[in-house]
Amino acid sequence: MAEEVKAGGAIDTYRIPLVVAGPCSAENPEQVLTCAHELAQLGCVDFYRAGVWKPRTRPGGFEGRGAQALPWLAQAQQETGLPVCVEVATTTHVRAARDHGIASYWIGARTATDPFAVEELSHAIPPGDGVIFVKNPISPDLELWIGAIERFRRAGHARVVAVHRGFYAADAAPLRNSPRWEVPLALRSRLGDLQIVCDPSHIAGRAELVPGIAQQALDYSFDGLFVEVHPSPQHALSDAAQQLTPATFGAMMRRFRYSVRAGERDLEPDLAHLRGEIDRLDSQILELLGARMRIVQRIGAWKMEHGVQPYHPGRWRQLLTHHLRYGEMVGLDRGFVRNLCHLVHTEALRVQGNMRGDDTQGEV
Ligand code: PEP
Ligand code: MN
Repeated sequence: MAEEVKAGGAIDTYRIPLVVAGPCSAENPEQVLTCAHELAQLGCVDFYRAGVWKPRTRPGGFEGRGAQALPWLAQAQQETGLPVCVEVATTTHVRAARDHGIASYWIGARTATDPFAVEELSHAIPPGDGVIFVKNPISPDLELWIGAIERFRRAGHARVVAVHRGFYAADAAPLRNSPRWEVPLALRSRLGDLQIVCDPSHIAGRAELVPGIAQQALDYSFDGLFVEVHPSPQHALSDAAQQLTPATFGAMMRRFRYSVRAGERDLEPDLAHLRGEIDRLDSQILELLGARMRIVQRIGAWKMEHGVQPYHPGRWRQLLTHHLRYGEMVGLDRGFVRNLCHLVHTEALRVQGNMRGDDTQGEV
């Protein structure tokens, strides 16, 4: 998108298909216009974002300027030529934005969790408007995210883009939200034709952590970025800690390592060879997991025969302690080993539960 603009713009050392940037909230005309002009000058931004109605976890915080901010954004759009997108959560929001010539939107993480709201919005926005950015729901529920995207597509919207903004997790620190990269990567394999961009600002929660998250998203072949940029972050009325200045945003955009996407050119023979190695090792891992599961079944049969329950906390702790230490020795990340152990152990319990006829599986 807007490749020609970027090629001629100030920043042309990388190629990222879709870049959205702007303040968390539209606060006053000067802030909205200054930020829009500084971003437009960088030449690498495709959409200007600004929140007008802010969904706050608790009442009493800054809830956005509401409809009075729309003329400021309309002016920014007109002066810079950057299409503006705003967060919409209700039909009234859509009408108000459209009345001001603003016709690209994002669906916030809280709204994306609510199928009723999404369904209503999918009909409130006329097909043929600009882009609809659909953020992931607060919890890592891939089906719910896909459902929201599907509702827009079924209502006839051709330009739907997913935004990965991370997921609520009690242990996300030092980040604000846990990235759970496997979720957007699974989305990519489920909906291959969908563009996915990353919102590193809401994942990081702190400005200094934004570039690292953004680079990681680009390494994972995301189609672009959705970044919070404020002319004076320390005075921002919402999300002050995580916003970049236009200058630091520009510096970040210049520094990105750019990688050629697989498929855009023939894979190097070296890479093909290394991928062959990976495929071979993956097959071995699966074969070993299969063998492990067959032993789990034998243990399950023994436990049934002796009237012993499947789960033994002592054995699990011992196993985990050993694997964490061993994993470290062979150069694996502790968090990764812990997740892997949980996954394998949960599957073993499921298999043993099935053998006993327990029905712990079920969909709400
Ligand atoms: C935002 O983009 O400012 C916002 C409120 O995001 P999210 O819905 O991802 O929390
Ligand atoms: Mn924000």
